Amino acid sequence: MAFNNQHFTDMSDYINLVRERNREYEASCGRPPLAYVLTFGCQQNEADSERIAGMAQSMGYKLTGSAEESDLIVINTCAVRDHAEKKALSIIGQFKHVKNARPGVLIGVCGCMTAQQHRIDELKNSYPYVDFTLEPALLHRLPEAVFRALSGEKRTFWVGGEEKIIEDVPVRRESSYKAWVSIMYGCNNFCSYCIVPHVRGRERSRDSSQIYREVRALVESGYKDITLLGQNVNSYKSDCDFSALLKKLCSIDGDFKLHFMTSHPKDVPDSLISTIAENEKIARHFHLPLQSGSDRILAAMNRRYTTRHYMSILEKLRALLPDIVVTTDIIVGFPGETDEDFEGTLDIIRRARFDMIFSFIYSKRKSTPAERMENQIPPAVKSERYERLTALQNSISKEKNRQLLDKTVKVLVEGESKNNPDVYAGRTEGGKIVHFKAESILPGSYAYIKINRAEAFALYGELQNKILYNLGEN
Ligand code: SF4
Repeated sequence: MAFNNQHFTDMSDYINLVRERNREYEASCGRPPLAYVLTFGCQQNEADSERIAGMAQSMGYKLTGSAEESDLIVINTCAVRDHAEKKALSIIGQFKHVKNARPGVLIGVCGCMTAQQHRIDELKNSYPYVDFTLEPALLHRLPEAVFRALSGEKRTFWVGGEEKIIEDVPVRRESSYKAWVSIMYGCNNFCSYCIVPHVRGRERSRDSSQIYREVRALVESGYKDITLLGQNVNSYKSDCDFSALLKKLCSIDGDFKLHFMTSHPKDVPDSLISTIAENEKIARHFHLPLQSGSDRILAAMNRRYTTRHYMSILEKLRALLPDIVVTTDIIVGFPGETDEDFEGTLDIIRRARFDMIFSFIYSKRKSTPAERMENQIPPAVKSERYERLTALQNSISKEKNRQLLDKTVKVLVEGESKNNPDVYAGRTEGGKIVHFKAESILPGSYAYIKINRAEAFALYGELQNKILYNLGEN
């Protein structure tokens, strides 16, 4: 079929065209073509990969866990840290032998890395076996990219995302009880260390009725944990604001919890705190990135809040919800961070008493203001500060977890523990992992566990009772 003579603009047209070709493939080979999706990075990327897998399935591909045997390989990359980009490039390099062995295999690269011109040039020049790239805002054009590549068109490097929202992209969800729902895309904040606004574009929010429709369908299918995603999720603004959206979603009937991430402290009005407190369907967990305990460094990061403002949010939150789990992100070794600045971070960690922190050693990202800042911190100093920070937080996390000793917590069962198949693992609504023994229990069930051991990163306990997935009390 000559592509150039036709004017298809719709994702579903391309899905149908590729499916037609794949039916022919299946008729001649006796099996459907196979697709392999590899994901790096954050929850947003995991959600995007579920769309990649959904589109691949709609196009007639069967998903496989093996790149070696697949006919379509899609690598969904992350650009937040240099390390993640290098790892993705190294793995893309390993797919050269797959292409050499079977030249008909299509290899596509998408995700944040492919929105940067220097990476596109690198893929163009040094990875000639990559057939196409698609920046995140163009993900819905995967069927078109695949169709063009199958039609023998030359390699395409898709950039310049149309910053609009495409609804009804097919999704193949990894879990039958936990779901990601993207409610907004992009970011307007331009924190000085972050590449996201440069690779995912400006903020755009989905219509609340579309989100409501998606969440209601998930709840009706038995999903228990639904996480609303956005780079700055609480700056959601469409036909309503974020608090109003949460209230609307809490009106859906069913036994489920809403989580959201990632929030920005500048967008936490009192109305959001009271909305969380008043609606039990919103999980008692707030992930609120602090990044630094020094106002001077927060200003250099362009974070647009002070430590005082941050602590006032925590106070209000805990006044209404004393047991809420609060987690945060901290960057260690931002350019110009002095010993005094770092002591400020340790001080706020002691005062805030987070349940857990996700700490990162600052890494330069190309084209960000922080990359060009003077006084980059030597690696040895960054590592030493990182060690001190994590040691302090580990002792706080353990103390906080010990407060749960002898208490019974409700967990959503995830299945056998990854490290020990003799025990099951589940998570509290605050995201704490709990290990326990049970004869047999389905992932997606709720279980009540009496805690008898508490460590910094995990809780252990005894099963008291379980609620089978979708079957009511047992
Ligand atoms: S809020 Fe800041 S750190 Fe978060 S995605 Fe936007 S620019 Fe990056």
